[in-house]
Amino acid sequence: MKAIANHYINGSFVESHGREVMDIIKPTNGQVIAHVTLADEEDTRRAIAAAKTAFASFGRSTREERAKILRRLHEAASAHLDDLTSAMVEEYGGVVQFAGLIVQSGINAFQAAEQALDELPLTRSWGKTTVTLEPVGVAGLITAWNANALFICLKLASAVAAGCTVVIKPSELSSLQTRVLVEALHEADLPKGLLNVVTGLGNVVGAELVRNPDVAKISFTGSVAVGETIMRDGAKTMKRVTLELGGKSPTIMLDDAVIDKEIPSALILAFMNSGQACAAGTRLLVPNSRLDAVRRAIVNAMPAFPVGDPADPKTAIGPMVSQKQYEQVQSYIRKGIQEGAEVLVGGEGRPKGFDAGYFVKPTVFVNVRNDMAIAQEEIFGPVLCVIAYDSEEEAIRIANDSKYGLHAAVLGTDLERARRVASQIRAGRVVINNMTDDPQAPWGGFKYSGVGREYGRYGIDAFLEPKAILE
Ligand code: NAD
Repeated sequence: MKAIANHYINGSFVESHGREVMDIIKPTNGQVIAHVTLADEEDTRRAIAAAKTAFASFGRSTREERAKILRRLHEAASAHLDDLTSAMVEEYGGVVQFAGLIVQSGINAFQAAEQALDELPLTRSWGKTTVTLEPVGVAGLITAWNANALFICLKLASAVAAGCTVVIKPSELSSLQTRVLVEALHEADLPKGLLNVVTGLGNVVGAELVRNPDVAKISFTGSVAVGETIMRDGAKTMKRVTLELGGKSPTIMLDDAVIDKEIPSALILAFMNSGQACAAGTRLLVPNSRLDAVRRAIVNAMPAFPVGDPADPKTAIGPMVSQKQYEQVQSYIRKGIQEGAEVLVGGEGRPKGFDAGYFVKPTVFVNVRNDMAIAQEEIFGPVLCVIAYDSEEEAIRIANDSKYGLHAAVLGTDLERARRVASQIRAGRVVINNMTDDPQAPWGGFKYSGVGREYGRYGIDAFLEPKAILE
């Protein structure tokens, strides 16, 4: 049985002051696979103090020094791609193909930040005025469990590019993955105190980061409820905040879409990361006139999304991360049935042959109205709602009729038309005809999906303060 009983503070692994021990449970079988000793407020304050001391020098580092550190971080993380992926598969139950992509995007974030930093004008001057972009200070980085390595790397890369030192509070459900990552990053031989990692509970370690006056900025990925708490509690110390929150992303299938080609794309958008993805396209908007063909295409495409052991490369959908998440998905499937939506595939309970672990049936509802709870609330599991529309205007109205605005997709043959529709969707990112990524393009949400942006220069900007010197 693995045991983790220390935290990464000031360049070393040090014994936890906190004494509470938590079990780490494997989602495929519900068995305890490790024990982790959780940090307390004192561990967190020690990490903040180390970051504060390190900021005195790192905050004055040059662009070149930061670029060198980003390169070393990239090398160190790259050397552990396979270990990181295996840890994500074991602890989180992420399917191996997707987990590999997530870890790779995290690793790429260091390179992308180096490129963005190279192109970012850190000083501008005119007349007798000089404006510089200064690092905001010590940053608290708080992550969710569904792509822990990606969030840590992405936030760390932007913070380092800006000249900030950091205290990371990973999700406590990601303790094993975090340990593999931190051991890898330790090899980058960073200035002491630049990177500190304390694993503990949100209302203990997270809350200390949010209230501590020596932390200038919180960059958070997680739920709306915790995002609200951070904004409210952070106000007392005037925290700068970046909040990456939930989503209920629409996929608009236009009436010129080739259904048999686009339905598999729509299902990939819905079921990515086993549906535990903030950007998952969980509302599929289809023309009423093509509903029957869509239903047939979904049923035909489902065998390409098998549930199974996440370590098997053929598996498309793994278990939910925890019992709590399993129950949340079940309760929404029940709610959808009570609300009068029709189950086209899937339904309540475990898939056949899965008696243990947190496996759910990938479920597609049809005859869904956009005002139903299953269409408005984030389920965070492989549950897709198919909603019919009669006109392009109605599709756009339904897509925007959501408290969220993180991500969206438009599927269709006429690209000009798809672009026109994309331009009218209130979301931080819209992809056309496929799930795709660009590490220099901003990531973040309108409305309840969050505040601020990550990735590329937008991500670095979030850790900078403009300062003017006038003669
Ligand atoms: P969560 O909000 O429960 O937890 C996120 C993190 O916040 C964890 O590390 C947790 O320990 C910490 N936390 C909890 N209470 C806290 C407090 N009072 N103060 C400070 N920190 C606290 O979310 P989760 O269940 O881990 O993740 C799922 C959510 O994350 C979903 O809503 C999902 O949409 C969202 N998410 C968003 C993005 C994005 O990029 N927008 C990406 C992934 C996940």
